[in-house]
Amino acid sequence: MEPHPFRPETVAVTAGRPEAVPNAPLNPPLVLTSTYVARDHAAEPDDAGYGRWVNPTWLAFEEALGALEGGDGLLFASGMAAVAATLSLVPPGGALVVPEGPFYNGTAALMAQFEGRDALTLRPVDPAKPDAVRDALDGAAMLWIESPSNPLLEVVDVAALAALARSAGALTVVDNTVPTPLGQRPLTRGADVVVHSVTKYLSGHSDLVLGATVTRDEALYERLHGHRTLHGAVAGPFEAMLALRGLRTLPLRMERACSNAADLARRLATRPEISRVRHPSLPDDPGHELATAQLDLYGALISIELAGGPDAAERLCATTQLWVHATSLGGVESTMERRRRHPGESVAVPEGLVRLSVGVEHVEDLWADLEHALDHL
Ligand SMILES: *Cc1c(COP(=O)(O)O)cnc(C)c1O
Repeated sequence: MEPHPFRPETVAVTAGRPEAVPNAPLNPPLVLTSTYVARDHAAEPDDAGYGRWVNPTWLAFEEALGALEGGDGLLFASGMAAVAATLSLVPPGGALVVPEGPFYNGTAALMAQFEGRDALTLRPVDPAKPDAVRDALDGAAMLWIESPSNPLLEVVDVAALAALARSAGALTVVDNTVPTPLGQRPLTRGADVVVHSVTKYLSGHSDLVLGATVTRDEALYERLHGHRTLHGAVAGPFEAMLALRGLRTLPLRMERACSNAADLARRLATRPEISRVRHPSLPDDPGHELATAQLDLYGALISIELAGGPDAAERLCATTQLWVHATSLGGVESTMERRRRHPGESVAVPEGLVRLSVGVEHVEDLWADLEHALDHL
């Protein structure tokens, strides 16, 4: 599709609405149906009359997300359903190039499961080494990128990697959950498919589980759509409506959450109880330079390592009052957790690492709560 003429703040509010004609509702209706009255088959052979194939409430969300990312969106039942559909684009036994550092553990676990069944071969590589990436891409079907990565917030050069993949004939997929389309638009940097956990920032209120893909390639869109229909990981219309309602305020939420995060990262870096703060806004962060060149927002996740190790990390999570001790990320409320409490998390993530998902509360309240908890470790 053509690039949308409006800026993202305006797109988020205006896209995916019914035509503005007299008496039309302002919002797309919530359509609760499993089936649709049949149309004239001779006139419309592509008759899509069933709730696993299509739903108007999905379409409204897909139009809005597609406009923000600059492609055609597809809504799925979860981020993992979108990841699974995208991995189905790798032909049987094909090679998938992945970053050797940690990325979302569910994605890594699914890839490992596929590899265990000989469905694909994983080729881990250091994304900062172009020669190694070029070698790994030789004959590969797909390159998987997550930047900034979850939970280490490592940043890679999306445009440079996508260019290497393209010249090797491999597809580039970017999981854009952490930066959101307001932080980066990977399709404009050469990516073929963008994947989202809509559960996180896009919906933004920790009240639903959904996922999405976005692509500009018609053939890829059709394959992803076909996968969704046959594997059946479709969204509930009600969740789709809530997600679109959340998406309307994505720019406002991100603006506040990212400014809170940058402020808190600076303050956390002064605390002796914390041995390392990871946030791309910090001048000494390894990803700072690349993030500054590539991202429009430094993001609302911070990862900290407690000098006192996992025990101190658990105590911190148990001591805060405003910050909720919880998994997941991207809601209006600030949450945090020690990632290694999950057995599935990569062993490359330090035991004492706590990931903070910064919300939209007042930054001084967030800091006072953290400061009090750190004082009482
Ligand atoms: C949460 C998450 C997913 C998985 O999404 P679900 O909606 O939980 O299925 C994928 N990638 C990243 C980066 C995530 O944070």
